[in-house]
Amino acid sequence: MTIAPDSSHEPQPNEPELGRKANAFFDTLKRKVSRQQYATWFQRTSVVSWARGELKVGVPNRFYQEWMQRHFLGIVAEAAGDVEHSPVRVAFCVVDQPAESGSAAPPPEQPAETVSEGPAPTTPPPVAPTTMASANDPAYQPTPFVGSGAQDIPLRLNDHYTFENFVMGPSNSVAYAAAMAVAQKPGRAYNPLFIHGAVGLGKTHLLHAICRDFLRRSPQDRICFLSCEEFTNEFVQALGRKDLQRFRDRFRTVNLLVIDDIHFLEGKERTQEEFFHTFNQLYRGNQQIVVSSDAAPSEIPTLEERLVSRFQWGLVTKLEQPEMETRMAIIRRKAELQHMAVPNDAVEYIADTIRNNIRELEGALLSVQAHARVTGERVTLALVKEALAGTLPGTRKVITLDDVVGMICEHYQVRIGDLRSKKRGRSVSEPRQVAMYLMRRVTKHSLDDVGGFFGGRDHSTVLYAVRKVQKRVDEDPAFSALMDRMADRLGGR
Ligand code: ADP
Ligand code: MG
Repeated sequence: MTIAPDSSHEPQPNEPELGRKANAFFDTLKRKVSRQQYATWFQRTSVVSWARGELKVGVPNRFYQEWMQRHFLGIVAEAAGDVEHSPVRVAFCVVDQPAESGSAAPPPEQPAETVSEGPAPTTPPPVAPTTMASANDPAYQPTPFVGSGAQDIPLRLNDHYTFENFVMGPSNSVAYAAAMAVAQKPGRAYNPLFIHGAVGLGKTHLLHAICRDFLRRSPQDRICFLSCEEFTNEFVQALGRKDLQRFRDRFRTVNLLVIDDIHFLEGKERTQEEFFHTFNQLYRGNQQIVVSSDAAPSEIPTLEERLVSRFQWGLVTKLEQPEMETRMAIIRRKAELQHMAVPNDAVEYIADTIRNNIRELEGALLSVQAHARVTGERVTLALVKEALAGTLPGTRKVITLDDVVGMICEHYQVRIGDLRSKKRGRSVSEPRQVAMYLMRRVTKHSLDDVGGFFGGRDHSTVLYAVRKVQKRVDEDPAFSALMDRMADRLGGR
């Protein structure tokens, strides 16, 4: 069972504890992140399981999984730790999205990233029945499997990952043209086609586009499209079931084999061997092979030489970091898909801020959209700056004393007037001292400036406060983490 935030979840007799903890967890989380962050990222999460110090948080797709892992792991672990009163390990796993009511389909038993070559699992990992993207969900990434029109299992392709939606520029034009050529003349243009590039630059998008176009042209042909991780899992399971023949029949008889993130073969000798034979058979039969990777064939450590040379038989092409104009065009296209009106200066600002990952560009747009929704304002440059401030690498704005105090008031639920007054009492003196500490840490203001801000206190009072808070930071890891996070949120770590 999974428990979504704000689901007014009524604990059942067999899981009162989980329900209580999940509710407490989401409540705690709400206090730790901004309203906008909560609305954008946590509204669509759920508690999948929580036992023996391990919390599994369900997220709707891989984009979320990566983003949460990167940006919110610490906060989530801390919120869970607060509820549990002891450290909690956190894993994000992709589950089918909870329906509006807050119920959800059963989650996969393991997070996608934990699967590895090794002893065969006894049961196949369930493939989450991912729902298709809505036009309002750029963050969507489907579970990229399986089959084709000519097979029993339908091919799942992201509706947005088409050639038409792929914005071309100097950084990607060769890969784009090659992908088109392969879809149009499979087995004849470039075989294999090897597309590599850093994360978030459009490899998976192009692979989906190839499959879609290929199918449109030859609906009776068979495609196998899967991630290398899935290929590995299937292989390991087939080994375990002693059922290699079926596995081979399946992969060696397709007209188009598309494997995403082939670098996952690294260090997996048996899977490499199997893939090698699959490759040879398809190649000999003139069937098209397309793979993507985060590195060129020769740069994938421990990739067997014979595979490296096979990959080089065809076309190896790289997706480069997109240039400014391409990034701007991509933002415009994504905004259009979202029915968002984004003025030129805002487009330029986003493109200038996020330079090397298109997925992050999309994440930024999503934040902007959420911000506009929460504040009810139109998207303007000012709103974009506010929405992105501090949440993205490289977005460094000048942090003001007001920024710090605003966050402290929100966190400690105190009034700014009280902080600036002569009031003493712990409920105001602690937040005031923390504010002074953070002001010194993340702004360039002097002790006197800070003292002046707090109703004309002198610099020795500020110094005392800063030292006191620093001492607590040194002694209390949880408090230190809280300070790091606050500094992060202000954009001034
Ligand atoms: P990768 O597989 O290289 O990590 P993806 O294919 O998942 O990257 O792309 C990340 C996101 O960026 C996707 O939503 C994709 O649609 C988008 N994207 C990447 N390149 C382009 C492009 N040239 N035009 C439009 N969208 C793009
Ligand atoms: Mg990818």
